[in-house]
Amino acid sequence: MAPETSGSENSGSAPLDAVRNIGILAHIDAGKTSLTERLLHVAGLRPVAGGVDEGTTATDYLDIERERGITVKAASVNLGWKGCFIHLIDTPGHVDFGAEVDRSIRALDGAVLAVCGVAGVQSRTEVLIAACAKSGLPRLVFVNKMDRRGADFLSVLDDLRFGVEPGVVAVQMPWGEGESFKGIIDLIRMDARRFSEDLPPLPSGRERGDEPAELLCAIPEDLLPRAEKLRSFLVEKLADHDLSIMEDFLTGAMVSPERILVALRRATLSLSLVPALCGTAFRDLPAMLLLDAVRDFLPSPFEAATPEGVEPKTGSKVRRRPDRHESFSALVFKTSSDPQNGRLCWTRVWSGSLQAGGRILDSQSKVIVRTKKIFSIQADKLEETPEAAAGDIVALSLSGAPSVGGSGATLCDPAHPLLYESMRVPEPVVSVVIEPRTASDTAKIGSALEALVAEDSALRVFEDPQTGRYELSGLGELHLEVATERLSREYGARIRTGNPRVAYRETLTVAVSHREEFDRDIGGERMRTAVEAELAPGPRGSGMLIEAAPGLRIPAVWIEAARKGLSSALSAGPVSGHPLDDIRATIRDVQVPTGSGRLAEVAVEAAASLCGRYCTSHAKGILLEPVMRVEVEVPEAFFGATAAAITSRGGRLESVDDVQGGKSIAAAAPMRVLFGFATELRSATEGRAVFQARFFRFEPAPPSISGT
Ligand code: GDP
Ligand code: MG
Repeated sequence: MAPETSGSENSGSAPLDAVRNIGILAHIDAGKTSLTERLLHVAGLRPVAGGVDEGTTATDYLDIERERGITVKAASVNLGWKGCFIHLIDTPGHVDFGAEVDRSIRALDGAVLAVCGVAGVQSRTEVLIAACAKSGLPRLVFVNKMDRRGADFLSVLDDLRFGVEPGVVAVQMPWGEGESFKGIIDLIRMDARRFSEDLPPLPSGRERGDEPAELLCAIPEDLLPRAEKLRSFLVEKLADHDLSIMEDFLTGAMVSPERILVALRRATLSLSLVPALCGTAFRDLPAMLLLDAVRDFLPSPFEAATPEGVEPKTGSKVRRRPDRHESFSALVFKTSSDPQNGRLCWTRVWSGSLQAGGRILDSQSKVIVRTKKIFSIQADKLEETPEAAAGDIVALSLSGAPSVGGSGATLCDPAHPLLYESMRVPEPVVSVVIEPRTASDTAKIGSALEALVAEDSALRVFEDPQTGRYELSGLGELHLEVATERLSREYGARIRTGNPRVAYRETLTVAVSHREEFDRDIGGERMRTAVEAELAPGPRGSGMLIEAAPGLRIPAVWIEAARKGLSSALSAGPVSGHPLDDIRATIRDVQVPTGSGRLAEVAVEAAASLCGRYCTSHAKGILLEPVMRVEVEVPEAFFGATAAAITSRGGRLESVDDVQGGKSIAAAAPMRVLFGFATELRSATEGRAVFQARFFRFEPAPPSISGT
């Protein structure tokens, strides 16, 4: 699709076809933070590039944040680059979790996958690439750390090509590798640029302009054959998609750089090819060439695929055009809070425009709110702006409760509602009890927890009205540690926390149906009704489904009341009161109650709840425990110790693969044996292991745990 240029501007002065909304995605330690710093530096936003190892970067400031990728401080930046406006968007944390990756990727128009030149393709690289492919996101690969010993560009490309990224093609190659990495060879123009030799490659601390212009020169003789081979591979791949290149390829004519650029842009946008670049985050030149490639190959908002939405009124699926004259629709991809402005919703506008003061609908919760302020995100500052339009990424401050406009929410024109695919929130697997230290902390905790949960959809909170204690659940020990630390540090709540515990679930093993006759006085009025329902075990992972039996002809209000009652009965299982899961509940009948109004609804709700409780207590409940998929990468020397640490805790090894620099181990282990595992692993491997555990599935707990 050719970029549309007529009269298309976003809220700033940037013509929309000069805008690139992109994210940098990477496995931990591949150099995402260092590369971001270098990009800011070459675009003139930072006189000195910060260094991760000196703790001076703009985007990272907590160790815990780095380890886990949890975004504590929101960071998205706008860079001007050779006539382009590049919005670098920091996608939210929890990238270990499939559904979250898909969602965060949906705010972007294109991506740069940074891959470590030494470690190659790692577990998270695979997850990220698969998610990009699934969402149809055009992307580039940047093979980083080419200056490190053991870096091997072509072998990383082979791993990608024969693995998760079959369309990868080199557009550059390194001039030397490891300690002899001297510069970058451009395979499109067939020239080379060498780094200046007199300056050692320092990670940071040099002033902008210190680095003399890299010298443009011919490709060294000894590297020419390889460069020619790679270029003809590139041309051959392009020929598959471009007839005129095919003709030149067949006749052996030289294909001009201009033609390659045009054809490669088209092939990248159509997801046929993925251009690969190389470099180091410690030099300016690779970052500059990367920005050129973002401009040359990644889509503007016009060319990007807008997500498909559903019109709630008609149920029909639509794609709105990225045009300011369309009805307004937008997706909130993360939230944060700011001392001056309170809660901010980071929003990608897909269609139409929005003015400060304007009223918008949160399609999920069906609540209409007012847009108090609109901010454009300028470097790490917010700048108030009167309007946002299709293609923009802005922060909104909204009136109303924090549950409105949360992460994943669709915001739209109330007159033309639309709902973008809502996100599946990852399963919490660990919980911790939080208690206020004094009565005055109680109120603080409540609102602070509310703010935390609004910001991080993977956290859930449950208040026990009897004890005044809160139970906070999340994705792992570290996740809860960060959250509770923030409660006291940022919100000043003094709290006591219990030990983290596993968040168990329960399910039923047989189907039971029951009819509950209800005949009681409610609020001085005699209420008679009956609810008949069946509860049956559903397939593993199916969650909770409550539906009316097909053909049941009863006014929706009573079905809704019965659904509420059943859902409350299913919130606590028969084994030990944990929430029930993987259940299919069918409402078979609701007897229209005597009496009317709200009290009649209460009667149906109560009857349904009693009916649900009868069924759960007769359906042979069992306890389910969360089982995690554990992935560890370790240097060869620590493989034995790592495997022992996993199996001695009762984890099952599932696969062991050779990766550059060591082994990659995949295992499954119940969450309950993983408490303290990160610490044990750190000491067993002298801190050399890269570890992640993510929710895999719920499995029946052994009798020793469930006491059955
Ligand atoms: P992130 O976890 O992906 O954000 O990675 P960081 O930017 O925090 O980098 C992880 C480590 O790799 C740090 O010690 C960096 O100094 C180092 N590093 C990052 N990029 C490069 C590079 O291009 N070359 C070398 N030699 N080290 C790098
Ligand atoms: Mg980082």
